[in-house]
Amino acid sequence: MKKEINLLIIFFCFGFVVQFFAQTLDSPEITAAEIQDHINYLASDELKGRDTGTEECLEAARYIENEFKKYGLTTFFDGSYLQEFPFISSIQLNENNILTITLPEKELNPVLHEDYITLPFSGNADVDAELVFAGFGISAPKLVYDDYENLDVKDKIVVVLRNHPDQDNPHSEFDNFAPLRKKSSVARDKGAVGIIFVNGYEEFKLGDDLVDFTYDRGGAVTDFAITNIKREVVEEIFNSNGMSFKNHYDKIIKELKPASFNFKNINAKLSAGVEEIETISWNVAGYLPAAYPKFKDEFIVLGAHFDHLGMGGSNSLYQGDDPQVHNGADDNASGTAGVLELAEKFASVRDKLNRNILFVAFSGEEHGLLGSNYFVNNLPIAVNQMVTMINMDMIGRLNDEKSLIVYGTGTSTDWKVFLDDNNGYGFSLTFNDEGYGPSDHSSFYGKEIPVLFFFTGTHTDYHKPSDDADKINTAGEEDVLKYIFDFTYLISNLMEAPDYLLVEKKDMGQIPGRKVWVGTIPDFAGDVDGYKISGVSDGSPAQLGGLQGGDIIIKFGEKKISNIYDFTYALADFVPGDKVKVIVKRGEEEITFEVTLKSK
Ligand SMILES: [Zn+2]
Repeated sequence: MKKEINLLIIFFCFGFVVQFFAQTLDSPEITAAEIQDHINYLASDELKGRDTGTEECLEAARYIENEFKKYGLTTFFDGSYLQEFPFISSIQLNENNILTITLPEKELNPVLHEDYITLPFSGNADVDAELVFAGFGISAPKLVYDDYENLDVKDKIVVVLRNHPDQDNPHSEFDNFAPLRKKSSVARDKGAVGIIFVNGYEEFKLGDDLVDFTYDRGGAVTDFAITNIKREVVEEIFNSNGMSFKNHYDKIIKELKPASFNFKNINAKLSAGVEEIETISWNVAGYLPAAYPKFKDEFIVLGAHFDHLGMGGSNSLYQGDDPQVHNGADDNASGTAGVLELAEKFASVRDKLNRNILFVAFSGEEHGLLGSNYFVNNLPIAVNQMVTMINMDMIGRLNDEKSLIVYGTGTSTDWKVFLDDNNGYGFSLTFNDEGYGPSDHSSFYGKEIPVLFFFTGTHTDYHKPSDDADKINTAGEEDVLKYIFDFTYLISNLMEAPDYLLVEKKDMGQIPGRKVWVGTIPDFAGDVDGYKISGVSDGSPAQLGGLQGGDIIIKFGEKKISNIYDFTYALADFVPGDKVKVIVKRGEEEITFEVTLKSK
């Protein structure tokens, strides 16, 4: 009897334990507790901010992979959940950085890192040329200021001041002409083969720091050497011509007039060598196969990026000096938890899904949508088999008003109706028609796939170490995910896949305040010589002119284009209505188009 009682108790306990696990830990339902668990892990200090391509990024990928396995998803990449992709993680100076300046009486050999530095966006070039002083390196006829007027810099190296002559004015029109990339681009257009930047003797900034050698992902100013040198070296150059750099600088500032000239008998041998470092990172994908044979070729994609900023870097908004883990709980452990919870939930109703549902976690998003861009261009299926892409990025901060922002609502005819009809959670919905945008859905929209992007809004912890797991509104996220589940379930069972609509988009390469519109959508993924576009907006000058996604613009008017900055600077020379000759590389071919610029 006693024994039997013991057994009963054991059975009772066992049953209780099984039930407990079944309903909370391993429940297929979308629950706030599971959302919190996933985010606690992904946004932990241990994962060091999941920077793309790092060991911790791979750990996060393995965690997602393991969950997909648990839910019984089918591997998407030939027996694997993981997809590797290459990317440029950083740059470094190679052996070929040498500067020798020959004065009439002696030779100067400035020391790299101490006396001078090659700029991160310098092309790889070896030049040997005469030196010319080109003031601030500004050519602005509209401001009646041209450092290059009557100055022949063809095949020369120009010495150029940083900043501009109107630096006391916080809203100076010269600001647009001051970026070092812009000045480099202008000098190259004028025929120079290299540029040497130097700090002026600015009244409130007497230091003489060299430019930081940090990668801006912007692409190099090719066939051109760019360097920054200390003032004392430039003083020696001036002195050898019987002049004072300080006096010359003061004169320009005082008179606000260019004072460019050719140095006499001064030559520089300048070699610039910047090397890109390629690394591997990962996407993770698995799917639930369609239960209905008729739609077995169609995929609905549910995605989110799982990478974040690591210990900071140039995208961080953190002001402190000591590096800190950027946990990225909302951005985007919240969206990643969303992919996991939705995968688990959909797996529990897998026999009711008429279309395939594909779950993807991307990395490389914070560096410019690198993972999703690689994904859409390296698929094990045809790209048009993906009939809808739903992206979740920062869905963990639902506020008391339950404000939920949905982008992409103009990319398919019925999106708004479906979204409104399924809003059984009291969300205050804000719709934005745009299909392109600053997250991974953009890569899919560029492939003419209807998209939606869910977002609970930005906040003061955005891109800071304080974006922590304990600030997530998990109950709110549970509602967001249930809403996305309802919506996706509906789409998966439609008799016809959603249609695709083009939404007109203003140009992202446009200078704010200027009215010229081209309508190109940049592609940040490729490492190309030129400005690569991922698409063109409907009705845009680019589209009407004949440009298309994948084209690489290499010349715009008379200007050589080797990166997106060159393109942006080129636009500044035109007004709406101008006809511009645009040369693009399409595959192996070079094609010339005429584009008539519009205003926007
Ligand atoms: Zn994000």
